[in-house]
Amino acid sequence: MTTTDRNATPEELAGVPSSLELTAIANQLFPDLTEGIDAVASHSGSVPAQPETAAIPGGAEFGAFDWQNPFGLPSVPAANAGTVQAYAPKVVSLEQAKESENAVSAGAANYAGAATGERTSGNDSIRIGSKTLAQIRNDFPILSEKVNGRQLVWLDNGATTQKPQAVIDRLAYFYEHENSNVHRGAHALAAKSTDAYENARNVVKDFIGAGSSEEIVFVRGTTEAINLIANSYVKPLLTPGDEIIVSILEHHANIVPWQLIAEQTGAVLKVIPCDETGQLILSEYEKLFTSRTKFVATTHVSNVLGTVTPIEELVVIAHRYGVRILIDGAQSIAHIPVNVSALDADFFVFSGHKVFAPTGIGAVYGKKELLDAAKPYHGGGNMIADVTFERTIYNALPNKFEAGTGSIADAVGLGAALSYLSEIGMPCVYRWEHELLQYALREMATLRGVTMIGTALDKASAFAFKVDGYSDEEIGKRLDEFGIAVRTGHHCAQPVLRRFGYESAVRPTLALYNSPDDIDALVKALRSFI
Ligand code: PLP
Repeated sequence: MTTTDRNATPEELAGVPSSLELTAIANQLFPDLTEGIDAVASHSGSVPAQPETAAIPGGAEFGAFDWQNPFGLPSVPAANAGTVQAYAPKVVSLEQAKESENAVSAGAANYAGAATGERTSGNDSIRIGSKTLAQIRNDFPILSEKVNGRQLVWLDNGATTQKPQAVIDRLAYFYEHENSNVHRGAHALAAKSTDAYENARNVVKDFIGAGSSEEIVFVRGTTEAINLIANSYVKPLLTPGDEIIVSILEHHANIVPWQLIAEQTGAVLKVIPCDETGQLILSEYEKLFTSRTKFVATTHVSNVLGTVTPIEELVVIAHRYGVRILIDGAQSIAHIPVNVSALDADFFVFSGHKVFAPTGIGAVYGKKELLDAAKPYHGGGNMIADVTFERTIYNALPNKFEAGTGSIADAVGLGAALSYLSEIGMPCVYRWEHELLQYALREMATLRGVTMIGTALDKASAFAFKVDGYSDEEIGKRLDEFGIAVRTGHHCAQPVLRRFGYESAVRPTLALYNSPDDIDALVKALRSFI
């Protein structure tokens, strides 16, 4: 369990180490880890041996992971569940990888494909919560597509995720049986579509652990969500010289809206730096606060490096200075269990299409009192209670922020996507993806001429790299010939790439349906031409 586990009660969370504490524990256990990761990145040597079994205070043992039931969370004591998985730093040399596979698990051999050239069992033996990986992959029809004569390998999940049949069917059902505008009609279909739409809002509320569905506003996606909060809540707070804090890791969607309102009000932006691994430096963050600080906006997961930011600490520190904080959950929502109430987040925003739902839909979570205090973003129908030419009385939450006709069917699709994930179990998804990412990093480390960008201890989904002698675009095109989809370019996050001296990078991103075979295909394809 981490302090972002959405199913955890506050009492359970009280006993869970924060990510800062976990980092301290990891540093104690693996003092050479940073050096090791650098070595992996530059291929200049192997990593000093890590303990096969080391007791983690208050936690389970590293190396004592239950590979017979690798993803059956219920068997893991709640208070221990997060201590190993978040910091099992298996980025090691190939020799050590093989050794530790033998030492740590029989199960790991299940996906030791590229390293050993053999696989002892397939996706049907990998259990992720209530389903096997094979079942999950079957749920996503597009994964059976052939691209350039090869089986599609979808490693562009950071840009958008594929949709399960459950979502596709829900959209079709909506248009076949329920389609109507919401809220306004007295007829049967208006009631059906309103029920479906409001039910989806409830599903979002439950999925992120919000207190009330009034606190969930449907928007087009993360970009619109951030613009909404910037203009509705933050801009009215600003006077010349006031300060907004963002981080170096941000996607442009969490930079430009703040620049726009800063320009309009005379406020300034301050930036939390990151260290060489791509992790935010909390001590520097704290130094940025002054009496002029009015707001903080940071990402939960970097869309380029995959860094999982110390979000609990970012929130606590902001609140210590009496400052509200927005969390950009675009890259965490599909990968990490989130509980906005446990986190005490003021605002949390995400896009549906990054979490197996349709494009054109996303959500803002905002604490009720803050949304109540905020001005409407768009004016129009649906957001009003009464209009005369002299004045308008706004509708209650959340309608106050949903002017005009929204993406009704897509909201219903979002509800279906989140229900699908909940049925599998987000803690299990998190755990599986963590293992898969470690496997991917380990396999990537066997390639010559590859430099990994961003080696933070805590990463999710994304890993970015450069290949000696090749442009990123060339790598993307060559991989496409193998049916492998990765993203190349600046990933709408130029400041963080420039922090590492690059203008662009190759970036694969994982999701729950990716398999060890996908990683093997990527590594094998790269090995064939680099
Ligand atoms: N924030 C992050 C971290 C992202 O990765 C993205 C998209 O990649 C966005 C914001 C913008 O999301 P959207 O284009 O869905 O609005």
